[in-house]
Amino acid sequence: MNTVYISFGSNIGYREKAIEDALYLINQNGMKITRMSNIFETEPYGYTKQPIFLNGVVEVETELSCRNVLERLLYIEKKIGRVRKFKWSPRIIDLDIIFFNDALYNEEDLKVPHPDMQNRDFVLKPLCDICPDFIHPVFKKTIKELLDDLK
Ligand code: ADP
Ligand code: MG
Repeated sequence: MNTVYISFGSNIGYREKAIEDALYLINQNGMKITRMSNIFETEPYGYTKQPIFLNGVVEVETELSCRNVLERLLYIEKKIGRVRKFKWSPRIIDLDIIFFNDALYNEEDLKVPHPDMQNRDFVLKPLCDICPDFIHPVFKKTIKELLDDLK
């Protein structure tokens, strides 16, 4: 069984509904949500002239491979109606794999742990709700420590 941490974010449309639909579809697609963080309102990151986000993280148990999880998350994003316009453009739903056990992937279209997670309080804060003592497999620091480093 694999333990996966997936971040979600939404900043256009009916954000709560998009998140609810995404979590429902995760549970319908070979993954089982075992923990969920609080949902935080956060200022946009990267391209900042866009609406405020809702962000959170779930812990999922699955027999799927990391690549299969990615494929299913992209499918769920599409199903909910995400249209990719440009990097960091507003999105109805964004689903990212943050950790897959303590595995490392560094492929063109699959980077795990997520390469920017340590710089994003909107990922670290919700992660801290559900797995503060999880050790980042590259930095060898806990989520709590990474969040303190960022502050
Ligand atoms: P971002 O999440 O950085 O705003 P996108 O959601 O548009 O960007 O993702 C673009 C691509 O990022 C996806 O098609 C996917 O192949 C790739 N990708 C690489 N690593 C990951 C990961 N850990 N989780 C989700 N997508 C990833
Ligand atoms: Mg993404």
